[in-house]
Parts: sequence; structure tokens; C-alpha cells
Amino acid sequence: MNPLFRDIPTSVFERMSLAARELGAVNLGQGFPDFGWPEDVVAKAAELLTGAASQYPPMRGLPELRAAVADHYSQHQGIAYAPDEITVTSGATEALASALLALIEPGDEVLLFQPLYDAYVPMVRRGGGVPRYVALRPPEWRITREAIEAALTPRTRLVVFNNPHNPTGRAFSQDELTALAEVCVARDLIVLSDEVWEHVMPGGAAHLPLASLPGMSDRTVKVGSAGKIFSLTGWKVGWIAAPAALGDPITKAHQFVTFTTPPNLQAAVAYGLGKDEAYYRDMRAAFAVARDRLADGLADAGYVVLPGEGSYFLCVDLTASGIAADDLTFCERAVREAGIAAIPLTAFFEETPVTNVIRLCFAKKQETIDEGLKRLAAARSLFA
Ligand code: PMP
Ligand code: GLN
Repeated sequence: MNPLFRDIPTSVFERMSLAARELGAVNLGQGFPDFGWPEDVVAKAAELLTGAASQYPPMRGLPELRAAVADHYSQHQGIAYAPDEITVTSGATEALASALLALIEPGDEVLLFQPLYDAYVPMVRRGGGVPRYVALRPPEWRITREAIEAALTPRTRLVVFNNPHNPTGRAFSQDELTALAEVCVARDLIVLSDEVWEHVMPGGAAHLPLASLPGMSDRTVKVGSAGKIFSLTGWKVGWIAAPAALGDPITKAHQFVTFTTPPNLQAAVAYGLGKDEAYYRDMRAAFAVARDRLADGLADAGYVVLPGEGSYFLCVDLTASGIAADDLTFCERAVREAGIAAIPLTAFFEETPVTNVIRLCFAKKQETIDEGLKRLAAARSLFA
């Protein structure tokens, strides 16, 4: 048995959601919305489940979805991909796994920014890569050229980048992206750019795709997910967008990881991607209302919220909120004794964790947020 997977704990998202279900806690941990999906996209999938074939679709994805993804990026982000440069995957998770299996040669060093999404490092290691970390620190979680350069060695080949960023919610600025892009061009690095939160920008700012920066289109593998665009996280329809030199080997790995993704869901996503700007505007507005409700309620309860522009998440600084417990202790007691599930940021670190910050998901109905806030107030008094 491979010790990597034998020794790794079950993901914190799964653990917290299981605990929440068992204990009847309000779940502001794992990132999934309880509102906000487009009913017509779901109806389309239902219609296609009975009305269309459920047999293997083409390995690279339904042509209509590949064309829809390419059109979507051209319309919303001004970046040009041919449908041939899109491969549909079973969620962004499979896109990341296939990309890491295909792009890493054993011994290659891979640069990652901490805190990081939990799927990256195990798959980098399984691909034979050696992780090297750049630490982002609260409250600003800023990327600097100096920090990137300090982590590079002659063996660095690949950067795994996530923007907007889970768990911090940061949408990195043009300056930060420029610093990253310039280093990548100077050092001839490939970037696996996880942009699953590209449309979840409740702050209202426009998403800056890394591939649009000078010198980046040929070296960027962009990863997207319909689960986030349509608030349907269980659908697991994702994709990569990349020039053939990078995308073709990833597609070869994909054919042995999942091979294909349910055709009915793919077709429904293709239909959904045709939605006009108003859909995205309304979605951002609805998430902004939810985020503000949670942020205001947290402030009223004495919690200090860190700034963030994208994703479903807000981070809370426990120390600044006057709570002396670390994040793991806080989350463990909060779910068991106050009935509220949150995610400790420690789970997003491989080394030198930030241990005084927790992540909360605001993509919830008003009543879920309000009940969550009551319980967060109770959690706070556990540590008074
Ligand atoms: N990358 C990031 C940064 C994520 O936050 C998530 C899920 N929240 C994923 C990848 C996984 O996406 P999917 O569910 O489409 O596999
Ligand atoms: N990405 C989601 C989150 O950050 C969870 C996905 C998962 O459970 N693996 O909460």
C-alpha cells in the first residue's frame, strides 16, 4: 500500500460535515451553498437524464460543452481558447489530479502557496513532485515576488496557483499576478491555475485570469468548475483550458483517471454557460447579501473578520477576536458543544500553519446564517 494514502487523514471537509450531520450542527464548514442554483439548469439535466443517451460521451467531453466553455471565457474574460483546447473532467478535482499526474516528472519541484486547498499536495507527491511552499500570512495574505523567488530552485518546474483563493477568499491584485507571471516567464515555469471561484466574486471585482497576462497563455493550464458557477457542487463537472502542448498530455492522463463525465450533466452545463451577464450579476449580488449578513453578524458578536473578495468563504481571526484557543480546539468544541461546524485553517497548511484563523462558508440562506450566528455567539462564550 502506498504510505502516502495510508497515512493521510480523511479530509477536514468530510470530517466536519459528518460531525455536523451526526450532531445536528449548523454546517458553515464545507463549502456548499444551500441556495442559489439555477432551476432551469437542473430542469435541463432532468430532461436529459430521461430524454438523452446515458452512454459514454467522447473522452474529451461533449463538443457542445467544449465549445460553450471556450465561448464563455471569450465573452466573460476576453481570453481565446479553441474548443480543442478544452477537456471536460469530473470536477476540478479530477482536472487537478490529471494535470499533476501528466505535468510532473519525478523529482520536479512544484511551488505552492500556503494556505492551500487540501487536494494539491497529495497529488503533487503522488506525481513524484517535491512540494516547495510560499507562505501567505494574515491579515493580507499578499503574494510578493521576493517570497516566490526565495522558494525557487533550478529544479522548479511547475506552480500550483489558486485565484480567487480558498480558504482566504482573496482575489489577488494585478500587481501580485504580474509578479507571479514575470517570475514564471523568466524561469520558464508552467502554472496550474485553479480558478474554480472565478465567478464567485461577491466583492464585485472582475476576475483576472492568469492566462491573460503577458507571456502566460502558453504556460497556463486553467481549471474551472461548473459546480461553483452554478452552485451545484455535487455535479462534479469541471474542465481544463490549455494550449495543446500542455492540454494533450493532461487529456491522456484524464483518460485513465475517469475517462468521461456524465453526458446529461455536461449538456446541462453547456446550456447553463449560455446564460447572459444578468445571471452572473444576480448571483454575485445574492452572495454579497449573504456574505454581508454573516460578516455583520460576526462583527456584532465580537468576531474579527479578515478581508476577502472572492469564494464562498470568510475567515475569522480568533486571537484578534479575543479567543485564546487555537483553531483546531475552537472548531472541535464549537461543533460538539455549540452545534456549529467551521473549518480550522491549520488544515490548509503542510508546514508552519497559521493556527488562529477559522473559515466560515456564507453561501447560505438567511435562516441558516442567522442560526449559525446564534451558535457562533454560543461558541464564543465557551472560551470566555
Ligand atoms: N479547487 C478549489 C480551490 C476548491 O475550492 C474546490 C472545491 N471547493 C475544488 C478545487 C474542487 O472543485 P470540484 O468540486 O469541481 O472538484
Ligand atoms: N472545496 C470545498 C471546500 O473548500 C470542499 C470540497 C470537498 O469537500 N472536498 O469547502
